[in-house]
Amino acid sequence: MKQAAMLDLSSEYQLYKEKIREAVDAVLESQHFIGGPAVSAFEERMCAELGVSHAVAVSSGTDALLCTLMALEIGQGDEVVLPAFSFFATAGSVARVGAKPVFVDIDARTFNIDPDQVAAAITPKTKAVMVVHLYGQCADMDPILTVASRAGIPVIEDAAQAVGATYKQRRAGTLGTAACLSFYPTKNLGGFGEGGMILTGDERLATIARQLRNHGESQRYVHERIGGNFRLDTMKAAILLVKLDYWARFTRQRRHNASVYDRLLGDAPVETPFGAPDREPVYHQYTIRCRRRDELATYLGDKQVATGIYYAVPLHLQKCFASLGYSIGSLPVTEEACECVLSLPCHPMLTDEQLAYVAASVKSFYDV
Ligand SMILES: *Cc1c(COP(=O)(O)O)cnc(C)c1O
Repeated sequence: MKQAAMLDLSSEYQLYKEKIREAVDAVLESQHFIGGPAVSAFEERMCAELGVSHAVAVSSGTDALLCTLMALEIGQGDEVVLPAFSFFATAGSVARVGAKPVFVDIDARTFNIDPDQVAAAITPKTKAVMVVHLYGQCADMDPILTVASRAGIPVIEDAAQAVGATYKQRRAGTLGTAACLSFYPTKNLGGFGEGGMILTGDERLATIARQLRNHGESQRYVHERIGGNFRLDTMKAAILLVKLDYWARFTRQRRHNASVYDRLLGDAPVETPFGAPDREPVYHQYTIRCRRRDELATYLGDKQVATGIYYAVPLHLQKCFASLGYSIGSLPVTEEACECVLSLPCHPMLTDEQLAYVAASVKSFYDV
């Protein structure tokens, strides 16, 4: 097939359509739409899959971040150190609790937060470090955990893109104080609608997060703190339970796709993803660095090869953060990445023939 999309959710759906319909039907028959056994079963399955003690299902990845910050009582007057190269929600949630996002630069090879910069950005006001395992590859956690533990502050993992990834044989989501997952339909474990999860080994934090997702209730109509409605729908949990059975296979396929690209693009004038030897990524995105990026994207589009740019504008230069005082040149590695990254199709339904077509198309752009 001489084309490739960024995702093919319709083909994926054909694989589990019957099981999903059965699961949805059971929820419809029960007429129980919020929480319930499907949500608890999904939380338990995630704990078992990832080897973490507590999982709190919530309404989105964004709400997972927000709820985690609220549970850690981070707010006005506090600072949170985070990378400037991520999806907006990472920084937006910090600002929403009233804290100040302190943006730092990334490691040019992995696109993840630079541990040295984390150490330099910590002040007495810093109340957490938020790392992002971008594109499905874990950030270099050990030096960050060391710095954070010396400062006595928690590390929050934004693992929205990295469910299943490992760092030194440890799983993403189990590395810091708490971690946040997203089940947005395009994520590696994508649901049918919005969804997210907080993972933690800290029982107290899990209890608070459970209260916060339900307006801070400790028991019916007793509000211990001010939370929100961050609950996950029963139907979405039932669907995610079915999808979990396909997740390992899809992850293997993404890794296979990446290895095919690594090989086929090895002699192309682009930079393929840096594989840190102590990490196993899940390739939420397969992202290359390239010259004449926008021209290449257009050229590939003409050849029916979809691409994505994650992210074209760094967080520290977003309009809504103008008052924080960053300017062009503040975080040069991030800004350079925004100019040259391009993600190629890597979804689990791609065939080797399609991968070869994508790689050949990239090469032919530079040959002309
Ligand atoms: C998707 C994503 C989020 C937000 O998740 P939603 O479920 O869309 O709210 C947060 N951080 C990162 C890095 C993401 O990729």
